[in-house]
Amino acid sequence: MDVICTCCGEPWHIDHVLHEEPEEFDRRGALIRACPVCDGTRPANQSHEQREHLDAIAQVALMLGDDIDGFAACLEDFDLC
Ligand SMILES: [Zn+2]
Repeated sequence: MDVICTCCGEPWHIDHVLHEEPEEFDRRGALIRACPVCDGTRPANQSHEQREHLDAIAQVALMLGDDIDGFAACLEDFDLC
């Protein structure tokens, strides 16, 4: 299962985020605010629609708190990443 960086939209396998390189992610529970691809800087070519999509995903992540497994399942169920 994948989770998504809400800054740049890059999908990451949940095991990578939690176990392989946890120090490379700026994470608050299920919410990923920065990843090794973007380092917290929003891509310059990100469209308004992409930004809104990622903001919506960030809201879902915040609602789920520390439930990163639930977040990954939610993304998969609703085909969001
Ligand atoms: Zn990122």
